[in-house]
Order: sequence, then C-alpha cells, then structure tokens
Amino acid sequence: MTSCGCDSATPEVRLIPYEEALQALLDRAKPIRQQETVGLTEALGRVLAEDIRSSIDVPPAANSAMDGYAIRCADVRPDGETRLRVTQRIPAGEVGEPLEAGSAARIFTGAPIPPGADAVIMQEQVCRDGDWMRFSASVTPGQNIRAAGEDIRAGQTVIASGTRLRAQELGLAASVGRDRLQVCRRPRVGIFFTGDELVEPGQPLGDGQIYDSNRYTLNGLLQSLGCEIVDLGIVGDTLGQTLEALQKASARTDLVITSGGVSVGEEDHVRAALEQLGELDMWRIRIKPGKPLAFGFIGDTAFLGLPGNPVSVFAGFCLFVAPFIKQMTGMQPTRAEAFTVRAAFDWPRPDSRREFARARLIRAADGALAAELYPSQSSGVLMSTSWADGLVEIPENTSVTAGDPVRYYAFRDLLA
Ligand code: AMP
Ligand code: MG
Repeated sequence: MTSCGCDSATPEVRLIPYEEALQALLDRAKPIRQQETVGLTEALGRVLAEDIRSSIDVPPAANSAMDGYAIRCADVRPDGETRLRVTQRIPAGEVGEPLEAGSAARIFTGAPIPPGADAVIMQEQVCRDGDWMRFSASVTPGQNIRAAGEDIRAGQTVIASGTRLRAQELGLAASVGRDRLQVCRRPRVGIFFTGDELVEPGQPLGDGQIYDSNRYTLNGLLQSLGCEIVDLGIVGDTLGQTLEALQKASARTDLVITSGGVSVGEEDHVRAALEQLGELDMWRIRIKPGKPLAFGFIGDTAFLGLPGNPVSVFAGFCLFVAPFIKQMTGMQPTRAEAFTVRAAFDWPRPDSRREFARARLIRAADGALAAELYPSQSSGVLMSTSWADGLVEIPENTSVTAGDPVRYYAFRDLLA
C-alpha cells in the first residue's frame, strides 16, 4: 500500500475524518436507561443490562463423562486383569452409595461419581460376567470424571453486562439456573423515506419512478439490531409532508432515521424541516460512499439523515448508525474490529477520501485469506451489497497493489 501524502481535493468545506465523525456521534448518543426483565427465550438478540454471576458450581458435582464403571484406582492390579464385584447401578439423576474397596458401580454419563470412586472405565474396555466385571486397561486417577465446577465456579461472572445475547449465552444463563434476564429496553426507531420518485414494491412502476428499496434494507438492519420500528414509509418531497413525518417519527422514539432529501437541492426538505423542529448539523465526512450525514435532535430524539442512495444507506448504517445504536444500548464493543487480509485486487487511484469498498473473502492459492472487490464500486450498485460479506477500508490518498495487507470489516461484526 502506498500513500501519496497529498490532499488533492483541498476542499473549501472541511471534510471530517471518519474517526472524528464517528467519535463525535458516539459522544452524543444518549444511553437508554430503561431496562426490562425478560424470559430466556425472549432474550435472544437483546443487550444484557446486568452481569450474570453464577451462584453454583457447574457441574454441581463430579460426574461420569462416559457410560461405564466407577472404580477405585487403589483396586487396580498394575499388571494383569482386575476383577471387581458390581455392587450398584447409578443412572443420571440418581445418587449412589459410597463405593467400597473391591467393588465397582455401573454408571452412566452425567451420573454423580459415588464417594470413594476416583476413575471411570468406559464400558467398551470391560467384560461383564454376572455380578462381576473385569478389565486389563490401564487406569489413571480422575479419568472420565468431570470435576465439580469444571465449567463454571460459584461466584464467577459468566456473561458481562453489555453483551448482545446469542443462543450460546441463553444456554449459558440457563446452565447457571437463570430463567429471566435484565436487558436494555429495545431502541425505538422512527423511519421514513423521502422522494417523489419512490413506489412501494408490488405496485406497477410509472415513468420516472423507482422502488423504495431503502425501506426494506433499513427495516432489516434495524430488526437485526433488536430495534422496535415505527415505519412511516414513503414521504413526498414537500416541506409540509417532511415536517409532519418528522413529528410523527420522533414521538416516543429514541432515534429517527431518514433516507434522501439531505442534499442542498431544492427538493431536499429534511434539512429545513429539522431546523424548524430541532437542531441539525450537516456533516461532510471524508469517506466514500456516504459523504453527507445529517445529525441532530428533535427534543430528546436523535436524528440521523442518510443520503438517499441505497448503497450509501447500507454503508452509512454499517459505519455510523449501527455503532450509534450499540452505544445507546450500552452494547460492547461499540465498534467492529477489522482484521487484516491480503488484497486480491489493485486499487491504482488514490482518493483524498477514505473508501469502504464492498468486498468478500476468498482463499489465495497458498491458503491465506484475501479480499476481492465487487467489480463496480459505484454507489448506485446495490447488487454489490448482496454480493459482499464486508467492507475493505482503503485509507486516504492510498493506492493498493494485489498482495498488500488491507483492513477488512465483516458485515457480521459491523451489524451484530
Ligand atoms: P437524494 O439523496 O434524495 O437526492 O437521493 C439520491 C438517490 O437515491 C436518487 O437517485 C434517489 O432516487 C435514490 N433514492 C432515494 N431514496 C431511495 C429509496 N428509498 N430507495 C431507493 N432509492 C432511493
Ligand atoms: Mg430525494
């Protein structure tokens, strides 16, 4: 990767570097303080608002890892065959008697080890003969025994506050006996989509019209972040309609997100409407795609205005909206981690703006992970967002040659 160190597009309006814009945004995110208690099955995808500490050892008692025989190692004859009388049978869910010298207990996976036993021989290594069992396999103390607390110790924190709960965490919480969890209230997000050219899918397309795709992209993205959505759909390009929509969308919501209408064109009314109802900053960010971003407040409700361009909506959500919502819910980490992979492309033309290119990972001939780019990085090509699995970050004023290391953000990390 080579940097030419210049800023070819010395702008009259200062473009804000990505990190600065993101940090400024995160600093202004108001945390959602309300919490609620939900049952485990409803907790999937929610952000945990307490530390989950175990009050028990897991497993609570030493138990058998195999179907077999619990024995005392002291009874094992080091050379030759050991023969023991089978004096008890312990299925999972029952508790055995202390194991006397010279005896064995038939035991099943998950059953508690009887006092005195210190190893389990798997049944495949044993010959059973009426009340007797014999084996010649060597035995080490503790073999095939799961120790009490092997997984979790009483007092241990098993899930930290701020964790977004996945299936694994639900199982983990259940394993320590929790049936209800304290989670952050879902963020409530009002959305609408400006543009006289927009038509709902399912309707015939007239001259000059396009389908409103942003509505569905944004609904999906917000749902996957666990938001409650107030969706007002398409809003025409007039100040009156925009004002009305903004008022409705900001009532009892934490955040309003819109697409379109934030440029300086005469058909762009979001800005004017917001200036009437609240406060607004127009940020011009030194990135591609998605340079303009409108940020403000209507009362306590935050406002994020994305450009109308569908690729910019998707990228803007990944780069700004998702971290903002995570910050509101107290989710950790707020920012996705990038990992370094090899470029499977050339990027010969440096740009003064940082580019986030739609990419996916492939295996290079030597097995290393490499990122290839969608052939068109035009911000009008929504196909690229479906083809890609993530974004490659190309720093300002930098060209890339195939084989160079590049930073790759997986959508999975950006959006979950
Ligand atoms: P705007 O930011 O309103 O100037 O829109 C920029 C571009 O995005 C224009 O080509 C619009 O037609 C297009 N666009 C705006 N909103 C949407 C939408 N909801 N779905 C698909 N394309 C849109
Ligand atoms: Mg428009």
